[in-house]
Amino acid sequence: MDPAYIRNFSIIAHIDHGKSTLADRLLEYTGALSQREMKEQVLDSMDLERERGITIKAHAVRLEYHADDGNLYQLNLIDTPGHVDFTYEVSRSLQACEGALLVVDASQGVEAQTLANTYLAIHHNLELIPVINKIDLPSAEPERIKEQIENIIGLDASEAVLASAKSGIGIHEICEAVVKRVPHAKGDPDKPLRALIFDSWFDPYRGVIILTRILDGKVRKGQKIRLWTTETTYEVDGLGFQSPKPVPCDELSAGEVGFLFANIKTVSDAKIGDTIYEAARPITEPLPGFEEMKPMVFAGLYPIESHEHGLLRDALEKLRLNDSAFNFEPENSVALGFGFRCGFLGLLHLEIVQERLEREFQIDLITTAPGVRYLITLGNGDVLEVDNPTKWPNPSEIIKIEEPIIDATVITREEYLGEILKLLEEKRGDQKKFEHIGGGRVMLVYEMPLNEVVLDFYDRLKSASRGYASLDYHLSGHRVSPMVKMDVLVAGDPVDALSIIVHKDFAYERGKGLIERLRKLIPRQQFEVALQAAIGAKIIARESIAALRKNVIAKCYGGDISRKRKLLEKQKEGKRRMKRVGRVEIPQEAFLSVLKVS
Ligand code: GDP
Ligand code: MG
Repeated sequence: MDPAYIRNFSIIAHIDHGKSTLADRLLEYTGALSQREMKEQVLDSMDLERERGITIKAHAVRLEYHADDGNLYQLNLIDTPGHVDFTYEVSRSLQACEGALLVVDASQGVEAQTLANTYLAIHHNLELIPVINKIDLPSAEPERIKEQIENIIGLDASEAVLASAKSGIGIHEICEAVVKRVPHAKGDPDKPLRALIFDSWFDPYRGVIILTRILDGKVRKGQKIRLWTTETTYEVDGLGFQSPKPVPCDELSAGEVGFLFANIKTVSDAKIGDTIYEAARPITEPLPGFEEMKPMVFAGLYPIESHEHGLLRDALEKLRLNDSAFNFEPENSVALGFGFRCGFLGLLHLEIVQERLEREFQIDLITTAPGVRYLITLGNGDVLEVDNPTKWPNPSEIIKIEEPIIDATVITREEYLGEILKLLEEKRGDQKKFEHIGGGRVMLVYEMPLNEVVLDFYDRLKSASRGYASLDYHLSGHRVSPMVKMDVLVAGDPVDALSIIVHKDFAYERGKGLIERLRKLIPRQQFEVALQAAIGAKIIARESIAALRKNVIAKCYGGDISRKRKLLEKQKEGKRRMKRVGRVEIPQEAFLSVLKVS
């Protein structure tokens, strides 16, 4: 199609502001789906995505729109993942667009995620169309939200579209705004092919499916293509677009968005952000912005049943076929046996992998406390990257430790400020910005260690603000910090899987809290069990679990039968998630209790 009639756009919104609902309405309005076919939130297709209301993979749906000017337009709606873990993917999806709808909830207003994604969009020079959604709500305050958009983001909101994705208000106006305000796709179909990979996934029948935006040139079936970073040549087996069902086509040309497959074996061969070109007409430069996706959060995954180790490895391999950001290597824990050290983009990513392993592969897991990757300079000049406490070098060899630092943006209401500031201080944060943004709300920007976020930051923030705080962050660099390794001993034996890396000044308090929690979590045994936290040879906290005297049921005095049954069931449930370490049975919660600070 002539690029002049193509509009590529995406939707930017804070979670729950109505992105998926609006996408559904657009599909329905342009006739991509009949009302009968309409299942709510068509774009969030994976089960997990649907349940959690988040988009994990990008999607690109082609819509045909007959505009008021009498012309037929091709609108490509590119849906992006809406979570900080996936910022790189979001930025590649935005690179495939010329514009974006900035959806803001008419009663909630601008939130941290709105800002973060807006800045990404501005960085990519996208034309932003503010859409104030949920104007059907009695609490909607469109005028106040317009002011917010102008004050905080600095965007002209006078022509913001007022909409209700739920009741279908403003949908026509949104389509017209996309046609009139989003710049048309540029690009020359006769130039050598240059195309961006903005997502990829593995299909068992066709191999890797690539979602691509064609910048210049054309791609056709049978064509020999090359990928810039891997320098490998493939032959295109098929191509098409989603509408939202896959529709095969003969060619994709400059300006268009679609999918292609070329017998590529794993997603790590078709990296997000990489450039596709034609083998016969090489290009001299790739598209800008490519980065290798690097895991930032690390944890050990262990099967509860040690005979499921092989099963777990197969499952991890299958998941990796589809997720190049996820990596793993075998690791061996004295406490937990054979398992895998895994790297994730962030906590949500970890949770998704964990959930899929349990749900799709039915493997019961023990996950050790997530941590980050430290840069450690040794006396001999070597610099190590250490993401596993068990690989922590001997302190006498360490010259310098650097930890990853993030810029965190928090938006909240003034009444919760006291609690939140206290939390941010406790999490070793340095204030960089404090701004009243109107309507009794405040925007805070803090520089803080990523390590403190992977601990229990989200939960603490939520409870400090009763849910009225939004958070977004991105990695900003590294900073030298006096970190130490803290070990935990159960009945005199060090349990390697419970070791964590903490800031020296916080070690005593953390150790004490951890030992207290473990005391409550580890059931009584036939003998007294000593619990100790230690840094090197120095014990910094200790507690003991008294020996078991009677069996549990004796406590119920025979009376209440249903209570007895409950107790037994609870015990059975607990059994499933126990791991015997030395002489002591330790429940799964104990491994996670390392995370909680108070
Ligand atoms: P997303 O997280 O941005 O994709 O948000 P969703 O589209 O999943 O919407 C979040 C919630 O807001 C859902 O319960 C929707 O039904 C609701 N919602 C979306 N748009 C509207 C709207 O225009 N009006 C009202 N009242 N509710 C809406
Ligand atoms: Mg959604």
